[in-house]
Amino acid sequence: MSKVLVLPGDGIGQEIVAQALKVIEYLNKNDSLNMELVHGLVGGIAYDETGSPLPQATLDAAHECDSILLGAVGGYQWEALERGLRPERGLLGLRAEMDLFSNLRPAILYPQLASASTLKEEVVSGLDLMIVRELVSGIYFGQPRGIEIRNGERYGFNSATYSESEIKRIGHSAFKIAQKRDKRVCSVDKANVLEVCELWRDVMIDVAKDYPDVELSHMYVDNAAMQLVRAPKQFDVMVTSNLFGDVLSDCAAMLTGSIGMLPSASLNKDGFGMYEPIHGSAPDIAGQDIANPLATILSVSMMLRYSLDQVSLANKIDSAVNTVLDQGYRTQDIAAKGDSVVGTSKMGDLVVEALQG
Ligand code: NAD
Repeated sequence: MSKVLVLPGDGIGQEIVAQALKVIEYLNKNDSLNMELVHGLVGGIAYDETGSPLPQATLDAAHECDSILLGAVGGYQWEALERGLRPERGLLGLRAEMDLFSNLRPAILYPQLASASTLKEEVVSGLDLMIVRELVSGIYFGQPRGIEIRNGERYGFNSATYSESEIKRIGHSAFKIAQKRDKRVCSVDKANVLEVCELWRDVMIDVAKDYPDVELSHMYVDNAAMQLVRAPKQFDVMVTSNLFGDVLSDCAAMLTGSIGMLPSASLNKDGFGMYEPIHGSAPDIAGQDIANPLATILSVSMMLRYSLDQVSLANKIDSAVNTVLDQGYRTQDIAAKGDSVVGTSKMGDLVVEALQG
């Protein structure tokens, strides 16, 4: 029995998570899923109801669960709040509290959607790569940092820092994921210029010794950015620091051309994970039954694969999504001429139908 905290959040979060719950409900009833759901609040809705974007009850529930399924947070109505009360603080707080240092961002391009990419079809069709980004250290958190007056002018500075243990744990995370995929890790750094990256590279080489079945290569980040748009299918797993991963994972996501299709995960060392679509709360389309729920449904599949050890059910969800796309059904964001456009709720029903086989 696994226990999952469900946090729909704001905007389209409610609608898309409802579709993922249909899938979970189906697998609970008809398959071996056995998942208990606990419901909680995060983001703007949590602020409205409790005065905090991350109520203590949500934190307590997270500690009692094996994973979190999250929709999205944020919206225009909370933008004027002081920083500490904004919806996004809820997400950052959860990451920090649960020590979610390993951010998994797959970029998968379903062949049925290859025309949605701005790149040529043959470059991206069938793309399936995973970016593993270190999420709680590096230059975003390093000290010292600040803006101060030096020599009569303003001076800004940040520190790119990594300890050996921080690099080791993200390395192990990447290699373990590669073992479940095509067994290739490309470590992305800037070791020709930055000492912190020299250490990164050394430690990755050490970590690789524990995984003789996985091939390790190295690439400088500028080349990696170029290769991602030139020939992205050469990569299996890319592992990189917080800053480089931030940029490269958005670039990789855009190769697919469909923000509504991509799930993500943030994991800690015990395999606890927060699973969510990469997109935001899309307030511009909230409440209209037009949002694409597939990224959220695929987040459930990732959860089963990477935290709950139910790989065959994960495969089942992935193949149900594939079937629905094969049948020509699309939400508006991924539709081309001649496709059958369906709403959010209908798309959820279609995935459940496809699960029934
Ligand atoms: P967004 O991802 O919400 O939307 C960008 C564009 O993509 C919009 O046009 C939207 O309609 C479309 N889109 C997004 N998801 C879609 C889906 N599932 N189906 C169809 N179309 C979809 O990004 P934004 O507009 O920059 O941000 C909106 C709000 O979301 C902000 O408050 C922002 O802070 C928040 N946000 C939250 C997260 C998160 O919860 N992890 C991530 C990014 C942004």
